[in-house]
Amino acid sequence: MKKTIMTLSIAASVGLGTAFTGIPAGTVSAESISELQKKSQEIQSKQEGVQNEINQTEAQLNEISAEKAQINAEINRIDLAIGDTTTKIIEKNQQIDEKNAEITQLNKEIDGLKERIETRNKLLKDRARSYQESGGMVSYIQVLVGAESFSDFIDRVGAVAVILEADQDILAQHKADKAALEQKQAKLEKDLSELEAMRAELAELQAGLNVQKEEKNQLMTSLLQEEAQVNELKMSLEEQNENLAAQDAAVQKAIELEQQRQAELRKQQEAAASSRGTSNGGSGGAVSTIPVSSGTFTRPAAGSITSGFGWRSFNGGGFHYGVDIAKAGSVPIVAAADGVVSRSYSSSSYGETIMITHIIDGQTYTTVYAHLSSRSVGNLVPVSKGQVIGYMGNTGDSYGQHLHFELHRGGWNAAKSNAINPVGIVPL
Ligand SMILES: [Zn+2]
Repeated sequence: MKKTIMTLSIAASVGLGTAFTGIPAGTVSAESISELQKKSQEIQSKQEGVQNEINQTEAQLNEISAEKAQINAEINRIDLAIGDTTTKIIEKNQQIDEKNAEITQLNKEIDGLKERIETRNKLLKDRARSYQESGGMVSYIQVLVGAESFSDFIDRVGAVAVILEADQDILAQHKADKAALEQKQAKLEKDLSELEAMRAELAELQAGLNVQKEEKNQLMTSLLQEEAQVNELKMSLEEQNENLAAQDAAVQKAIELEQQRQAELRKQQEAAASSRGTSNGGSGGAVSTIPVSSGTFTRPAAGSITSGFGWRSFNGGGFHYGVDIAKAGSVPIVAAADGVVSRSYSSSSYGETIMITHIIDGQTYTTVYAHLSSRSVGNLVPVSKGQVIGYMGNTGDSYGQHLHFELHRGGWNAAKSNAINPVGIVPL
């Protein structure tokens, strides 16, 4: 067995020797029953304490659940915001594409106008040049000189001017159009840069939301871890509670047995017939049986001691709260003393396990038999010293067939604070 080191009350073992020596059968009085009842009350108050702790862990689990729900809601909200931002980014991309298309179209129009302006310019220059080259200016003067009257002259001047102005007007119109288009182009480019700025802002917002989501996810992970830890604690508390309940039931059974025994004793005393016998329910036939000792305790199994009670360096170190007895083959395990089975169960660490509660001179003791291959007694069954309760095995946290035997002065608890060295008490 590998177990966490916890407080161990060595003082509890002081003076044990006397507690176990010579308790003549039949001397147990009503006093022992009241002590058992006191013991039962102690166990019940311990159970209350453990139950309080279980309630606390439940409250913690509820709190964690509420936090989880809150974080889930926040994650959902962030997801919605991310979805919304993504939609907006898609919209902005569409708008940017549209603006780009408009700008491309506009650029084409501006290019067309530039071409027309150039053509018009060239035409005007050509016309001016042809006037000079062909003596156009002279004929223009001649046109004016050839006027028949002053009003005809005025008409002729006007006609020439109109022709010149028409050319100039077209050119001016083209230039105005070009300026307007360029203004429009500037506006579109401004719109475009605004859209791109908005898109960049949205992308930043989305990145921020992703960071938030990552943080919430991490928080959720740590909550799940905490929940697992609290659940584990709750499970161990529940196991402790079950053990306490089993111990209490065993004490109740012991009270009942003691009352029956005392009634029987009184009857015998009344009949003045002293025919008491001791029963040493020995078993025969099996390969590795051992003789049952005549004292209060007997050895729980045949075999050699492979690890004693106390600190040890192997197997990861730590405190060994029991004694290991190993032997190959079919090795029966016997009850170390008269008592009542307080627990017969399968544990992940202890493997197949039996715990027996013994009441000796008003004091409760618990013996533990771990790593069994099989158990042959159930809960609350009265057992007598030397009675076979199962067989040696290698179940649970065990490396090779052996019996892990523990003795507790009082009830068993997860901290094993009542564990004592069985050497000197149990003949090993
Ligand atoms: Zn052990």
